[in-house]
Amino acid sequence: MRNEAAVVVVGGGITGCSIAYHLTAAGCRDVVLVEKGELTSGTTFHSVGLVSQFRTSPADMLLMSYSIRLYRGLAAELGDAAGWRPVGSLRLASSPTMLQSLRRSVSRARALGLDVGLIGADEARRICPMMSGEGLYGAVHVPDDGYLEPNGITRELARRAVAGGAEIVTGTRVTGIRLDPRGRVEGVETTAGPIRTECVVNAAGQWAPRVAAMAGVDLPIVSLMHQYLVTRPVPGQELPRETPVVRDPENLVYVREEVGGYLIGGFEPQPKVWRLDDVPWEFTQQLLPGKWELFEPLLAGAIRRFPAVEKAEILHLVNGPDGFTPDGHYALGPVPGRPGLWVAAGMSINGIAGAGGVGRVVAEWILEGEPSIDVWELNVRRFGAHLGDRRYAAEKAREVYRYYYAPQFPCDENEWGRPHRTSPLLDRLLALGAVFGERAGWERAHYFVPGSPGRRQGADERTWERPSYWEHVAREHRAVRERVGLLDMTSFGKLDVTGAGALVFLQRLCANDVDRPTGSLVYTQCLNARGGIECDVTVTRFGDSGFRVTTGTGSTASDLGWLRLHLPEDGSVEIADVTERHAVLSLWGPDARRTLATATPADLSTPVFPYLASRMIDVAGVEVRANRVSFAGELGYELVVPREDAGRVWDRVFAAGHEFGIEPVGYYALNTLRLEKCFYYWGDDICPGDTPLEANVGFCVRFDKGDFIGRDALLRQRASGPERKLVPLVLGGEACVLWGGEAVVVEGRAVGRVRSGGYGHTVGHNIALAYLPTALTRPGTAVAVEAFEQLVPAEVRSAPLWDPRGERVRT
Ligand SMILES: Cc1cc2nc3c(=O)[nH]c(=O)nc-3n(C[C@H](O)[C@H](O)[C@H](O)COP(=O)(O)OP(=O)(O)OC[C@H]3O[C@@H](n4cnc5c(N)ncnc54)[C@H](O)[C@@H]3O)c2cc1C
Repeated sequence: MRNEAAVVVVGGGITGCSIAYHLTAAGCRDVVLVEKGELTSGTTFHSVGLVSQFRTSPADMLLMSYSIRLYRGLAAELGDAAGWRPVGSLRLASSPTMLQSLRRSVSRARALGLDVGLIGADEARRICPMMSGEGLYGAVHVPDDGYLEPNGITRELARRAVAGGAEIVTGTRVTGIRLDPRGRVEGVETTAGPIRTECVVNAAGQWAPRVAAMAGVDLPIVSLMHQYLVTRPVPGQELPRETPVVRDPENLVYVREEVGGYLIGGFEPQPKVWRLDDVPWEFTQQLLPGKWELFEPLLAGAIRRFPAVEKAEILHLVNGPDGFTPDGHYALGPVPGRPGLWVAAGMSINGIAGAGGVGRVVAEWILEGEPSIDVWELNVRRFGAHLGDRRYAAEKAREVYRYYYAPQFPCDENEWGRPHRTSPLLDRLLALGAVFGERAGWERAHYFVPGSPGRRQGADERTWERPSYWEHVAREHRAVRERVGLLDMTSFGKLDVTGAGALVFLQRLCANDVDRPTGSLVYTQCLNARGGIECDVTVTRFGDSGFRVTTGTGSTASDLGWLRLHLPEDGSVEIADVTERHAVLSLWGPDARRTLATATPADLSTPVFPYLASRMIDVAGVEVRANRVSFAGELGYELVVPREDAGRVWDRVFAAGHEFGIEPVGYYALNTLRLEKCFYYWGDDICPGDTPLEANVGFCVRFDKGDFIGRDALLRQRASGPERKLVPLVLGGEACVLWGGEAVVVEGRAVGRVRSGGYGHTVGHNIALAYLPTALTRPGTAVAVEAFEQLVPAEVRSAPLWDPRGERVRT
């Protein structure tokens, strides 16, 4: 075994082998892959191997489409030996609800560039005649999908990696990761001796948390069981080899042909954890005992759709574990705080489908600094410290698994593991009738039903139509636009950046100029080298060398990770996540100043306390940091309060607002308010694949302040002009309900995708935010939005739709 390598890959499953192959194919020959057993002896060997590109997440679809191209290419060279079976797939609708859900998914997939459509039940049965037509309402047919024999392809990827210069060492376990005093990777220990390296890729499947722990890193991946059974062929009713893979979510199953018989797997409603942590090293080429009681509902579902299964002799029930993340997405990328350590794990029963694409993006990321596909949803840095509670992480993972096949509705909220993180205002919000959703473990008020007891929102709004809370949201919306509203935003991320090097550090990361006087607020993006938006934050200056970076609940961990990835090594900057220490109360509306003035002796007049200023003021005897900002586009203040004093401040402000008709406001109303102002959500509207010039936040980029990450790329884009731009579209009336992801269509062609959408209760229109080719972004341009296969006419408008000159926030 080599004792030095440019890259060491830990794990010889399909993920590790694909990464090794793509690294060598890109010219990085100095790769060692270390595998404790034989190649594929982890989860890969017993995989069913289904590969579908019909996804509604852009990252998943692009990764899986690439996988299919890779597998197809190998099959073209190697024939059957490559193990790729391009039989196509059918995803069935076994109820009108699922048909509706598929309609929506089809539009979302089309918006991502996948040319799919719905077919009728008869056509589906023509493609797969062994299916019963009972309760069949339609299907999506994807002819390019298929399945893979995972062992053959993994070995072929390994063979090619070796031909490209890699060394593959089996029967050897990585036992430690060596770090230098600054936390940088400098090598691995193995049972066959050490290897010096500055780059380790943890592709150790369900053992990945143990490998990460060797470098002191917590990886929230838990091992869940997944089962399938195989039958003998039913005499006279053998399944033809070309039978497509059938997914019948409402019957909980997927089905494919296996030597003329059936292979039936699926997603049990009560999934089981195998191990919360510490999957034994010795668990190599092994399976778990079958759990018949878990599988019974799946078998019943398979019989409903394929009646011949009832007569089939069962050969075996396979129970194999795989590593699952709490949100069911892969965990990819560099690990913040551990330079040189990478992760490609948590494949969550999708590792075969994604392996080709994952291998490619991880190799690009290591060699070029950025992946060519925007994989922010899969970035390992998204996990927050709250997921260190393994039982909680497992509940999240189990619930994702449980709903993997269930029709999902836009207002579904997961229910398991709640409540996990709560605001000190929880009781007050409950008393006001709050209905809570969950984000990053936080209970957050979505809307209020006055006079009702507060409760947790669950999977109870099972509709694509106008939800029951519409009028509550409209009322809260109007309160903010016309009077004043109070919103608990305690879950907002608060990251304190301090130290002698803090200013230089933030100036390098932020596209805006944060070198402003103490007490200033600066809205800014942090960019990657391609100019893409990695973080969208507000920076408050506390003093010469003290700043607070404030960010959204869902992006706190990701932003903290981005900062830590760039932390200078000289110790001149420290970052502390102080999110849990402070509550945040947002007071917004034309009467916000008068309300606050009743609760504080401080001078709130604009000359003393202007827009985008941050001041310490006294409220109810508590020293409160008041920031004059508003995500609703109205006059307003964010009050940052020590956690223990939050109740007192809330009570005082709420009482002060009484005479102005104050209302408690939830996140759903906030969404409609910010849509009218075209304020963006990171992860929906702006992502690492979008630049500030495309997103119309070029006003936050200060090219003249000196160098910052992404500047060169933006200068190039400014010179050539962006090819697409984010614009608001308005759709007439309230006829359809937008949820995001819908295709934007011009002359029958998808030209964009709704990033986020909703109803603007003040402007009286449905609003959709979408990137369109620049030629289509002139205000007044007519386009259409495809909602449930209906083309709804829409018009491009200029942003924002409400208070275009921003006078209301500045008054
Ligand atoms: C029953 C079942 C059916 C499935 N069906 C599908 C499907 O239809 N489609 C799909 O896309 N996915 C499917 N999956 C999921 C898919 O099989 C996995 O996601 C995928 O195989 C994971 O591959 P991997 O390389 O990441 O992990 P693994 O295959 O587990 O490889 C990790 C490797 O790392 C090695 N390793 C661990 N620790 C060390 C160490 N310290 N030193 C050296 N080596 C180490 C292990 O021995 C192992 O070989 C299924 C999974 C199961 C359980």
